[in-house]
Amino acid sequence: TSRDQHPLFVILGASGDLAYRLLMPAIYRLYLAGHWHSPVIGFAPDDWSGDQYKDRVVDGLRQFVEEFSEDRWTEFQQLLHYQSGELSPDGLKPLAQKVGDSAAIFYLALPPALFGQAAQGLAAVGLSKSASAFRRLVVEKPFGHDLQSAQALREALHQGWQEDQIYRIDHFLGKETAQNILVFRLTNRFLASIWDAEHIRSVQITYAESLGLEGRWRYYESAGALRDMLQNHLMQLFTLTAMDPPSVWSADALHNHKVEVLRAVRPIAADAVDHAAVRGQYGPGSDGHRTVVGYRDEPHVAPDSRTETFAALKLNVDNWRWHGVPFYLRSGKRMQRDYAEVAVQLKEVPRGLFGAGLRNWLVFRMKPDERIDMVVWAKEPGLTLKTRPRVLSTPYRRASEMEYSAYEQLLLAVLQGDRTPFPRYDEVEEAWRIVDPVLAAWKTGQPEIYPAFSVGPSGQDRLMDPGTAWRRLGDYEEAGN
Ligand code: NAP
Repeated sequence: TSRDQHPLFVILGASGDLAYRLLMPAIYRLYLAGHWHSPVIGFAPDDWSGDQYKDRVVDGLRQFVEEFSEDRWTEFQQLLHYQSGELSPDGLKPLAQKVGDSAAIFYLALPPALFGQAAQGLAAVGLSKSASAFRRLVVEKPFGHDLQSAQALREALHQGWQEDQIYRIDHFLGKETAQNILVFRLTNRFLASIWDAEHIRSVQITYAESLGLEGRWRYYESAGALRDMLQNHLMQLFTLTAMDPPSVWSADALHNHKVEVLRAVRPIAADAVDHAAVRGQYGPGSDGHRTVVGYRDEPHVAPDSRTETFAALKLNVDNWRWHGVPFYLRSGKRMQRDYAEVAVQLKEVPRGLFGAGLRNWLVFRMKPDERIDMVVWAKEPGLTLKTRPRVLSTPYRRASEMEYSAYEQLLLAVLQGDRTPFPRYDEVEEAWRIVDPVLAAWKTGQPEIYPAFSVGPSGQDRLMDPGTAWRRLGDYEEAGN
């Protein structure tokens, strides 16, 4: 039936911020592009009428969708339905009646503490299974706050759902750059033979933002940069960069290879955390235009908070491909500028006839714009054989090409049953295993305070091998290394 072709899309937590600012705008843009036909059932505790729900949705669309059109909204709103209720089995029964035996996707846009309860409630009213149609469960981040809680959450989900029904959102995997790392790596022959310890010296993955807390204290005070950015997003970028190529393009083959490289990451010993991890917290500072308060002076933040707003990790990978190649991951708030990249540094040639220490970089850049840069050395024009760095650069997208947000990419993949861009549970668990000793060590001691709008704590330099330095945050056109 057409209902099976267009599964119902149920948003639990339909009155929340995620649904308002990100999910509904993404769904509406997919609709405008001709990719969305599914009825949407919003579910939340509020006792709203269908029209009240539509008013709330359209308010968000007018704000967040540039291409918003009143005409298209008139058609689109016919897809929207609302059901109020609590997450208990009793509260979910009316939803179960509405869904019947249709194919359906349940998106948990809920506070993370409710993921387990919601998944179990859905299963209890029979919504996790249907004899005739698929049932999928989409789980937002964060997936646990350490190894143990991630395991407990897995237990709770797996009581009513099979792993292959579960789609865990890591929105970085919906970004063009993340997807392009694998496509670029595995399509261009010249990279295949240099993608190893023989040719690569180190890899730096940086995600720097100039924003501060922006009112998100409730979540951030208990998270910090290591949980918020490194354990999930940067670990995924690391995995895509370091994994062995799968022999077929299927979700399980991909996830098997991702898990394998995560398992090869050398565990960080409890007494060696200082050599493998650095944390910082922004203090007050100025970028020349405005002066901002330090993290501890942000509204609602404890004056002695030790939450890190900057975290850096050095990972060693104990396998054949990467023996001796350090992978550096770092992310911070209130940094000098918005800048994000995966930068692969090649070794210098065995005999540098035209200068010593000249190294190439291959850079997957995410911010400020999405592009691939290759830093190469070439002869400087003139009467000598002097070299200078040049950048071979290509943007991912022509200005005329449609741009899709990460949520659009991921929602479409859920509809299509494509699990490749969603971390499987064992990936998440391995990532927690890697950072858990650091989280444990950081329960005591203090982060280094760095000035707002700087490059972060100076302590990050201690992770670097001799002769290596963190890349500057910024335009790279003129700099070789
Ligand atoms: P939120 O604004 O607090 O919304 C949570 C939703 O859950 C609301 O609809 C809320 O209904 C509902 N809810 C809360 N307690 C409930 C209960 N006991 N029973 C039934 N429903 C309940 O949170 P959010 O910012 O949308 O975040 C949702 C999820 O998305 C979280 O896992 C978050 O980590 C993730 N996420 C959010 C963002 C973002 O930018 N917001 C970005 C990435 C990921 P009421 O309004 O009636 O309480």
